[in-house]
Amino acid sequence: MRANVYDAAIAGGGPAGAAAAIVLARAGLRVLLADAGNARSPRHGKYKIGEGLPPSARHLLRDLGVHERVLADGHRPCHGTLAYWGDDAAHANDFMFQLHGHGLQLDRVRFDATLFEHARVSGAEIVREAKLSLTASASNDEPYRLQLRTRGTEDAIECRWLIDASGRSATLARQLGATRIDYDRLLAFHMRLHSDADTDRDGRTWIEAVEQGWWYSVLLPSRERLVAFLGDADLADRRSLLTREGLWDALQAAPRMRTLCDEHGYRSSSSPHGADASSSHLDRAAGLPAEGQRWLTVGDAALAFDPLSSKGISNALYTGLRGAQAIVECGKGDADALSRYSDHLLDIHRVYRERLTAFYRMESRWPASDFWTRRSADHVHPPTDAAVEA
Ligand SMILES: Cc1cc2nc3c(=O)[nH]c(=O)nc-3n(C[C@H](O)[C@H](O)[C@H](O)COP(=O)(O)OP(=O)(O)OC[C@H]3O[C@@H](n4cnc5c(N)ncnc54)[C@H](O)[C@@H]3O)c2cc1C
Repeated sequence: MRANVYDAAIAGGGPAGAAAAIVLARAGLRVLLADAGNARSPRHGKYKIGEGLPPSARHLLRDLGVHERVLADGHRPCHGTLAYWGDDAAHANDFMFQLHGHGLQLDRVRFDATLFEHARVSGAEIVREAKLSLTASASNDEPYRLQLRTRGTEDAIECRWLIDASGRSATLARQLGATRIDYDRLLAFHMRLHSDADTDRDGRTWIEAVEQGWWYSVLLPSRERLVAFLGDADLADRRSLLTREGLWDALQAAPRMRTLCDEHGYRSSSSPHGADASSSHLDRAAGLPAEGQRWLTVGDAALAFDPLSSKGISNALYTGLRGAQAIVECGKGDADALSRYSDHLLDIHRVYRERLTAFYRMESRWPASDFWTRRSADHVHPPTDAAVEA
């Protein structure tokens, strides 16, 4: 079988993979962007979690040439956050006072599809419902050899550069020798609610701390309200939280969120789902060109953030852009571009951890709660080997 040959192959068509593909295709490289996901699967319906796009992310969409297109896609404006955190008072952060204007509550399936399509328009070859697996690692000037599996077909792929944009699993990078470092075991349990009343107009992200974790809620473009509980894997009653009744009962412990839902007559419109929401990063985000390695990671595969930070999508777009630029620079003879990229990501992670720790420490109402004492200890979140599966 003759292999299809690319300058770069990207495993994962979320925001990170799409951003990288756009930059590389624009630079004239022959790019393959493959996405294994099927967001329309019967299990999830037309829904993907991770919907808050902060105002500051909009300049990244402009850099990718897709800002206007995203704005035309019918996402819901987000005007700020309302946090019940640290005490009983409401703490509002109004995006009106920020330079970048309002944020967006995304229809994630649509947002990801627009970016994916924009990669095609920019010149990348895109393949949906297609999984890339490594069959042989590159050495010196040899290409990476991969298999591209779609429903019913298998193709051999060769590429000079390999980008792992596969999300938190970072499957290919770990096969290539990178190690994932986990900082906690945070899980999200989420479901969508429906109301016949059509009275809810609150476009803010609500956050509320409770004794064993915290909740957030947003109004989606579909007019459904998403509610999500974040708790530690070893503390949460997973079996119960994955039932409609169990998650609804747990919501009763969040008085502000419960009142909001009662006021508008919300009832569950989807079954609950669980998701890994832990913080992690790889020990190195890129291979070593001096050793013949030409791979790098972008998005959650490189750095995965606690949803409290609302940084996941911005990070995916930013690292997609920066990672692709590092490859272009390497191609022009800048041998250090990949290690600079890798070091830059470690810096981002350090600053993220400092801010996350400071935010968690603002909540001190439950000194006997394991969830909060873990997050207030001097050595907050020591790395753990535990791989988290929802
Ligand atoms: C509960 C929760 C709430 C969140 N809320 C927010 C929020 O409000 N704001 C925010 O900015 N972020 C949020 N996030 C994080 C955000 O969703 C992620 O950071 C973002 O999706 C990362 O994008 P990505 O492209 O790196 O990975 P993903 O979006 O995970 O995409 C990876 C893709 O790669 C595909 N794939 C995997 N392996 C292969 C393979 N071998 N070959 C081909 N394809 C493959 C997968 O199917 C998937 O489609 C939240 C996350 C959680 C869990």
